[in-house]
Amino acid sequence: VAASEFAARRREVAAALAERKLDALFVAFSPNLRYLTGFTGSNGGLLITPGSAILFTDPRYTIQAAEECLSERNGGLRIRIAKGPLLVEVAAAIAKAGVKRIGYEPARMTCDALDALKARLPMRAALHPVSGWIEQLRMLKSPDEIDRIRRSVQINSRAFERAAARLKPGVTERDFAAELEYRMRRLGAEKPSFETIVASGARSALPHAQPTAAPLASGFVLVDMGAFVDGYASDMTRTLHIGPPGAKARRAYKAVLEAQLAAIDAVRPGVVAYAPDRAARRVLKRYGLDRAFVHSTGHGLGLEIHEPPRIGKRDQTRLRAGMAITIEPGVYLEGWGGIRIEDTVLVTESGCEILTPTPKDLRLI
Ligand code: ZN
Ligand code: ZN
Repeated sequence: VAASEFAARRREVAAALAERKLDALFVAFSPNLRYLTGFTGSNGGLLITPGSAILFTDPRYTIQAAEECLSERNGGLRIRIAKGPLLVEVAAAIAKAGVKRIGYEPARMTCDALDALKARLPMRAALHPVSGWIEQLRMLKSPDEIDRIRRSVQINSRAFERAAARLKPGVTERDFAAELEYRMRRLGAEKPSFETIVASGARSALPHAQPTAAPLASGFVLVDMGAFVDGYASDMTRTLHIGPPGAKARRAYKAVLEAQLAAIDAVRPGVVAYAPDRAARRVLKRYGLDRAFVHSTGHGLGLEIHEPPRIGKRDQTRLRAGMAITIEPGVYLEGWGGIRIEDTVLVTESGCEILTPTPKDLRLI
């Protein structure tokens, strides 16, 4: 991300303060901080007013903040290293700036932090909740962000290929998960974008299973994995099968794959986010499996593994070119097993581009 891109994002926020009837915005949620400043430390805050932007952090991050945000000084970002609690410095800056109506992110702040800030505010200054503003901006990815997501997806798929190629029956779920994460890092990922899921046999019916110390059981093996590359997430699920699948397994897999393709087909600019979800459910209903699909069809991803929009029953967001989302229908049958197929997809001017290159036919081990 070019330094000017961070400054441009902050300018956009600053310019929109007035229409939201705010004098300032306080941002403490780290993906939003990173989006607006480039700062990746775990403890930070950003105060944006129409005329200034101050990044607050603590002495552990003095060097890092300068490295990550130094070029930002030209963009008007000031860095303040707080010796004590950050919020004391933030309140002092609010007093000095003379701002009265300060927006904060209610979903992203603890009650403790909110109380601490409130208690230190100058007279007549007040905090106002602002929900999802920066997250809204983050939905539309810049070309640079799309490039990072693309690389993240490629590294993730390559890691899957390398680990799956050496996969043999008898390997434990945890060993396979470790192998996937090892390959990911060796290929250039910073870390997994969430805890890798490897769930075999009847446990594949748990959509968010933890890998166990047991050897891979026969039947389906659900593998859900993602990487962070240059700060950006990828997300993919593939379901493998140990041993020859029976008729029921083949049919269920076919149903999920058809549902996934139908949902992808429904992804284009202008459609409401629930459209792909409906498309997937329609297919599963034909197979009598719609009740076994217990989560939404997908989610946005970027600096976070889950971010807006939600590709679910109720989300009214209109898809737009530049959004990166997942499409991941699944069916889960208790005591039997589960199947999910997930790609990372980019909404484009003409429809969408499936970024995930990994084949989707049922892979046998
Ligand atoms: Zn996933
Ligand atoms: Zn996902």
